[in-house]
Amino acid sequence: MILFLLACTGDASTADAATLEDCTATVADDVPAFFATYFACTDISMEGESVVLATESLPPYATYYYGSGHDMYAEWDDQGGTTTPNPNVIAALTVRVVVPAEPVAKGLDITADLVDYQMSTSGEEYLPGPVGVAPDSVANFNATALTGDDIFEEELTFDQWDAHPTQTGEYHHHGANRGTLEALDFLGVDETVYGILCDGTVLLGCDELDGSALDVDTLDAQDGHVGDIVDLDGTVHFTGRYHAHVCSDYNGFGLYPEIQYYDACDSGPTLQ
Ligand SMILES: [Zn+2]
Ligand SMILES: [Zn+2]
Repeated sequence: MILFLLACTGDASTADAATLEDCTATVADDVPAFFATYFACTDISMEGESVVLATESLPPYATYYYGSGHDMYAEWDDQGGTTTPNPNVIAALTVRVVVPAEPVAKGLDITADLVDYQMSTSGEEYLPGPVGVAPDSVANFNATALTGDDIFEEELTFDQWDAHPTQTGEYHHHGANRGTLEALDFLGVDETVYGILCDGTVLLGCDELDGSALDVDTLDAQDGHVGDIVDLDGTVHFTGRYHAHVCSDYNGFGLYPEIQYYDACDSGPTLQ
């Protein structure tokens, strides 16, 4: 571990990153409007009825985690003295998330005993690694930390976009984040959505997609519930879809889901 830290400290990322203005991505004509509307810098295509999101998870904004010397490096923002960086540097990934058109619920009752923020404590968890994509093209990880680690302490290494890289450079979000808000602002949309996960679970903000308030009593232990997902224009993007409200006001502290509601997840690469 110590050797690794010494080897990496001070090295700039070799990733060829681009800003929101300059990034290039291909969105196929036949992808559903939800995907064409709310994602920047992400290649999106169809595979049968499923939607494939492909990204290198390179943040389209300046961050300390590109490393000093990279042209998208920024000084560390300690956010009032609360955060310190981890020693890792961003690397380009090959993230691929396949979202099923008709996800099948496992029939779980997601109660507090299932949601413990610890990795590999339940067979119902999302796997470690990229299990979704955010509107800023950054990988979404679940809300767990490695055994012995604490996700709430790991948050103290988040940059000003609320993300950080793993030891192998996989830059990712675990919950509500300013990188997504920056991308949504760039895209010119007024809704809040933090993306989607591999099993079909949609990630919204504190309100429903159309801005209406929700009945907090219907939320499970990770702030999920089932309902139609309708935007401000009245377009119904999903019917009867499980979605989580990523919001620090509720049960889940603004983190993403830990438990996979639907039965299939096709995403990668998987971290060991
Ligand atoms: Zn993390
Ligand atoms: Zn809802």
